[in-house]
Amino acid sequence: MHRTYQHTLKRAVRLAGIGLHTGKLVEMTIKPAPEDFGICFKRLDVEGDTLIPGHFENVVATKLCTTIGQRSSQGLIEVGTVEHLMAAFFGLGVDNALVEINGPEVPSMDGSAAPFYTVMKRAGLSRQKAARRAIKVTKRVSVEIDGKEITIEPSDYLTVDFEIDFDHPLIEKQRYHARIDEVCFERHIAKARTFGFLHEVEYLRANGFALGGSLENAIVVGDEGILNGEGLRFPDEFVRHKILDLLGDIYLLGHPLIGKIKSKKSGHALHNRILRELMAQRDAWEFVDRLGDGKLVPELVQPSVIGGPQAIRTLVTPAA
Ligand SMILES: [Zn+2]
Repeated sequence: MHRTYQHTLKRAVRLAGIGLHTGKLVEMTIKPAPEDFGICFKRLDVEGDTLIPGHFENVVATKLCTTIGQRSSQGLIEVGTVEHLMAAFFGLGVDNALVEINGPEVPSMDGSAAPFYTVMKRAGLSRQKAARRAIKVTKRVSVEIDGKEITIEPSDYLTVDFEIDFDHPLIEKQRYHARIDEVCFERHIAKARTFGFLHEVEYLRANGFALGGSLENAIVVGDEGILNGEGLRFPDEFVRHKILDLLGDIYLLGHPLIGKIKSKKSGHALHNRILRELMAQRDAWEFVDRLGDGKLVPELVQPSVIGGPQAIRTLVTPAA
């Protein structure tokens, strides 16, 4: 994660599966991409070459998942549930990749980031020439809505302190505090699955959500216990998954973040709000890299140099 240079995948990887909310079977190919390309999505089932950069400014919906979108002549082109895949990119330290997908939602796989992480790790990473810029927090920024709160403070590392509080005897209060590095992510966070409550399933489905949800891709919490026969992967899998969501959402900055994140019950909406708040306060962060003295002159660097038609033309796309 704390790398000097940008990285992309050594070769393309392909995954297929059902979207958690849409229930649609989709195929997804993740391809290597050039320096400063960022993580960009492209819908193969929509005409045109519109790219949707995985960037917090392109987040168009945050209900139950993070959806990004881009306006084009075809209207708004969207990709839903990007957060677990973004978390896998974050965990591996992938800076540049093109995600081609033939449907509206990233496949849910097993409800965690592990399948994405594992397949990309197996493909291997390739070091690029451009420096990897991180965004280092220099001033405390905080957002609070309806008893949910998230704060980012200066620190020399990325640390997360997350607390959840559900009115359910199987979960209740869970808190997880860790310095997030590659080992921590792989061992303790990547495998944590998304979860839902049985009593909400009917309501969600009536409203077009969780149509692809099952015991294969989510922990389902009933009144008496977990419905999944294999049980939990960690006793506190719920809070670990919330951290996974947070890390995926935060990676929509387009750069790794260096700071101390404290959250109480935050979700996708608040994660997006804190990024907008942080980036809007120009004295609250600076770009840093690991070349030379590690510091860049902030004014010389644009915060969202990511994707675009120029980048797609230079894209190297080996066969999968
Ligand atoms: Zn999630």
